[in-house]
Amino acid sequence: MTGVVCAPMHLEAAAVRVPGARVLHTGMGPRRTAESVERLGDTPLVVAGIGGAVTDGVRPGDLVVATEIDGPDGPVPLKSAPLLAAGLRRLGLTVHTGPVASSDSLVDGTERGRFAERGALAVDMESAQFAAAAGPVAVVRAIVDTPDRPLWRPGTVRRGITGLRSLRMAAPALREWCAAAEKGEVLLASPRSFCAGVDRAIEIVERALERYGAPVYVRRQIVHNAHVVRRLEKLGAVFVQEVSEVPAGATTVLAAHGVAPAVRQAAAAKALRVIDATCPLVTKVHNEVRRYSSRGDTVLLIGHADHEEVEGTVGEAPGQVIVVEDASAAAQVRVADPEKVAYAMQTTLAVDEAEEIASVLRERFPVMAAPRRDDICYATTNRQRAVRAVAEHADVVLVIGSANSSNSKRLVEVARRHGAPAHLIDDVSEVDMRWLAGARRIGITAGASAPPQLVEELTQCLAGLGRTSVRDSQVADEDVRFTLPREVG
Ligand code: SF4
Repeated sequence: MTGVVCAPMHLEAAAVRVPGARVLHTGMGPRRTAESVERLGDTPLVVAGIGGAVTDGVRPGDLVVATEIDGPDGPVPLKSAPLLAAGLRRLGLTVHTGPVASSDSLVDGTERGRFAERGALAVDMESAQFAAAAGPVAVVRAIVDTPDRPLWRPGTVRRGITGLRSLRMAAPALREWCAAAEKGEVLLASPRSFCAGVDRAIEIVERALERYGAPVYVRRQIVHNAHVVRRLEKLGAVFVQEVSEVPAGATTVLAAHGVAPAVRQAAAAKALRVIDATCPLVTKVHNEVRRYSSRGDTVLLIGHADHEEVEGTVGEAPGQVIVVEDASAAAQVRVADPEKVAYAMQTTLAVDEAEEIASVLRERFPVMAAPRRDDICYATTNRQRAVRAVAEHADVVLVIGSANSSNSKRLVEVARRHGAPAHLIDDVSEVDMRWLAGARRIGITAGASAPPQLVEELTQCLAGLGRTSVRDSQVADEDVRFTLPREVG
């Protein structure tokens, strides 16, 4: 445990005291707070106390986690707020994040409006001094009074008890913050995040919306990332499972993972204006499968049968493609004619595992035809090399990517195989602060479908927990660009 929970009042200190937590009663008001802060030096500290809301919508018993403190010397950002807020929400608490103002005296009546105008959600009497501390700081205020339930009215005591109850419920997350906060560094795997195929697919949808207007239908998730899908939905994209759900004649984008020919036929039958966002590197695998199958080969497709890319590739020659998921399946797979066999791969596999499966197949079928160049794409290969380099030095690795992203899941596996505990997160709200306890070096990477700004957000949050130095660990340069289809070019 490196951090301390600072509670200005005795009652607050009692509410947040749980086994394993260091709780300090720091005293009320600016002067006593400043003295405590000086004594604490650069110790990480999370301030926990009651406070008053200055805006509507924040109710007694709610928690406000400060994203910045608005004090006499101007705003001070508190960067770990999203992590702490997520930990508190997981405890079932109602949490707001936003600026907290600090005042020298109790704030009530019309004075609340003055703070609200400056953007604050809540006000207290100590945070400005805490925010000046040398180490990491976080601030949580449990709301007691609000604009429509001011101080010194009937019900104030009851609301005070409600606020203290929320603080008590918050105590485990405060303890986790204290354990997670310490000096250290972030190791950024590079390359990470968007690849050329994902960039292109997203640009295709954006341009289709501009050129043809909303709605633009997209079959399946354009790329496997919840943030990307939500943003495009806001712009007017409508995501569907099958083209049967699209109105006749509508503009329809086929996702980056590729589709079976049957899907194109169904789209043509409905006279859809089809724009194909299939990544050219996936199209290359489709072409290989068509070439092998047209000469009568059985195609052993190394990949995951339930992945959309594999579903589409199998659709090129349904009777002739057999999906091989692992080395034991490779050892048992039966083919009609061992002299007429070829193999291909899903583009987003773990490089070493896929090679192991391919070598079992090569041993069993020595004349098996192979792709001219490896099917696992450059982006998958580079991201796996980069996470491996980081995992060898990191105490924990956080991989940003959605749960249905194959290449993101592979990054987690590669990191684990190279010695680091690793976790897949959609964004910072899914970080469990317990993973960070004792982790001086935290590795970060992002799957090829995860937006780069999510990496930036996470890096900022970790800086707020003391991992202020950031080292970029670059293993390859990427300058791949794919041309756009003519419908949007
Ligand atoms: S991960 Fe590879 S195959 Fe998939 S979209 Fe990106 S570049 Fe294309």
